[in-house]
Amino acid sequence: AIMLSLRITPFGERKKQRLVVGRDITKIYHLNMIRRDFVANASHELRTPLTVIAGFLETLLDASDTPLQHRRPLTLMRNQTDRMCSIIEDLLTLSRLEMSERPEEQETVDVPDELHLILQEAQTLSQGRHIFETRIDEDLLLLGSSPELRSAFSNLIFNAVKHTPEGTHIRILWQHDIDGVEFSVTDDGPGIPSEHLPRLTERFYRVDRARSRESGGTGLGLAIVKHVLNRHDGRLRITSELGRGSRFICRFPANRALIRDDRESVRVD
Ligand code: ADP
Repeated sequence: AIMLSLRITPFGERKKQRLVVGRDITKIYHLNMIRRDFVANASHELRTPLTVIAGFLETLLDASDTPLQHRRPLTLMRNQTDRMCSIIEDLLTLSRLEMSERPEEQETVDVPDELHLILQEAQTLSQGRHIFETRIDEDLLLLGSSPELRSAFSNLIFNAVKHTPEGTHIRILWQHDIDGVEFSVTDDGPGIPSEHLPRLTERFYRVDRARSRESGGTGLGLAIVKHVLNRHDGRLRITSELGRGSRFICRFPANRALIRDDRESVRVD
């Protein structure tokens, strides 16, 4: 089979005719598939040995007869293995997201419930250093995949905690309007220089590599968010102003919204 990418543009007098340009992208498609499988296999193969190393390091750190001078290097090794584990988990998540265009199962996702759980974790991560404000429509649910949406929303909320200093306000919004549903995370942190914005959702793209590493980031979070949104007919918009803060907005179409009913969920259109 041949994969074609088609571009249809009106042309001619009064633009009544159509010009169809087809491009054979079979090769690109196959190369992409090979790359995707390679990343998935490599991550999978690395996961097992890494888990073994992490396990032994944990045992050594737990043992009471481990000499004091070994504890520091062992702790460093444990932290680095934890980092590698996070990267591998994120790579596997991305590979899974790339395997199909839509979530295998669509369900009614209790977004308010998920958000409250994520907020608890975010507060632990923040250790009281950030001020959280929420505006969550408790009756607004979404048709989609729970694990995927949870990972997208938590990435955005945790990012606001990880990439902003103490005292930053983080506002979380979950609402619907006539055009659809919106989830957004707004912070009044340091902001992101505008030249970086178009590339933020690329894998491993980080504004400040060293800082992101320090904060435990993998550089894959926003790539995951973008994939999840695409699979839910959603869109990610990022706005930011240096010194003023950043806003990450996820928009979903209205036909994915559901309103909580005491007994069951009914769809709103
Ligand atoms: P990471 O694992 O580094 O957080 P992401 O893909 O989630 O990777 O984010 C990419 C980069 O975008 C981060 O390294 C950081 O530089 C920047 N970033 C993300 N969220 C924020 C934010 N709320 N404020 C400032 N910078 C941010």
